[in-house]
Amino acid sequence: MAENTAIADTICRTIDLGVTITGAALDGQDRTHLYCELRAPDDRCPGCGAAGRLRDHVHREIADLPIVGHPTRLHLQVPRYRCESTACDQSIFRADIDDIVAPRTQVTRRTTAWMLRRMIVDKMSVTAVAAAVGLGWDTVNTIALSAARNLAAAPERLDRVRILGVDEHKWKHVRGQGDPSFVTVLVDLTPVVDGTGPARLLDMVAGRSKAALKNWLDARDQAFRDRIRVVTMDGFSGYRTATAESLDHARAVMDPFHVVHLAAEKLTRCRQRVQTDTCGHRGRSGDPLYGIRRTLLTRTRLLTDKQKTRLKTGLDAHDEHVAVAITYAI
Ligand SMILES: [Zn+2]
Repeated sequence: MAENTAIADTICRTIDLGVTITGAALDGQDRTHLYCELRAPDDRCPGCGAAGRLRDHVHREIADLPIVGHPTRLHLQVPRYRCESTACDQSIFRADIDDIVAPRTQVTRRTTAWMLRRMIVDKMSVTAVAAAVGLGWDTVNTIALSAARNLAAAPERLDRVRILGVDEHKWKHVRGQGDPSFVTVLVDLTPVVDGTGPARLLDMVAGRSKAALKNWLDARDQAFRDRIRVVTMDGFSGYRTATAESLDHARAVMDPFHVVHLAAEKLTRCRQRVQTDTCGHRGRSGDPLYGIRRTLLTRTRLLTDKQKTRLKTGLDAHDEHVAVAITYAI
C-alpha cells in the first residue's frame, strides 16, 4: 500500500506539495478527488513555539492541477492542535498549509501559477482555463487578476531587473460580447540575457497604452528605474514614448525576435546584392557567398570549426565581400 501511495504521489506530484494521497475517487462531474494528508505537519504553536497536542482534523477541499485533462480536487485533512503551555494565549491552532494554498483561497498556489501561465503565455481564454480546473469563470478571472496584483505586491521581484520586457496581451474575455480588453504584461528578461534562467512575469496592468506603461514605471521607486538599462517591446510607439519619458537613460529596443529577424533579412539582402555584383547572376551552387548563405545566419557559438573556416574562406574570396563581412559582423 505504501508503495502504491508513493507511485500516486509521484504521478500526481502531490509529493511536491508535501502531502500524501490516502484515497481517490471519481465523481459524475468529470472530477478526480484525491484524499490527502500532510506528510510532515508542523505542530509548533504560532504563539509560543511549543509542540501542540493533536486535537482533531479539519477538512479542506482545494482545487489542484488537472490530472490527465480532468479537474482535480484535493481533500486535505489538516491537523488541529491544542497548545498545552499555560503561559501561552493560543489555545487551538491548525497546521500551517500556507505553502500549499494561499489564505482565503480554494486553489493550490501551483494551480494559480498554472492558470496565469496558460492565460498569459499560451493565450488561453478564461473559459478554457475555468473548464480545465473545474471552476467558474468569475472565480478564475478573480484569481488570475489577484495573482497578477500579488506579483506587484512582492517588491523583491523587482530587484535586479535590468532588462524589462513590455508586451501587450489580449485578456480573452470570451464570455458575453464585451470588447476584448488588453493588458500590458511586464516581464523580467534579465535572467534570459544573463543565461541564468527563464523570463519572469513581473506584473500586468490594464490597458495597452502609453499611460498604462508610464503609470506603472512612475509608480516604481527611483532605484528600480535607475537599474533598467533596456526596455524591449514589440514596436508599439506608445510604449517607446512612455520609456523615453519615464526612463531617460534606458534604451528602448524591439524585442530580440523581431531584431534577429530584421537583421537576418538585411544580411541576406546584402549578400544577394554583392553576389550579383561580383558574379553577374543570382547565387547558385559553387558561388562563394551562396555556399555560406546558411552559415552566415547561424549563431557564431553554434558553428563547427569546419563551418568557421568555410565562412572565412567565403568572405575572403573577393575584395567586394567586405560589405557582407561588415554586415555579418554587425
Ligand atoms: Zn502556544
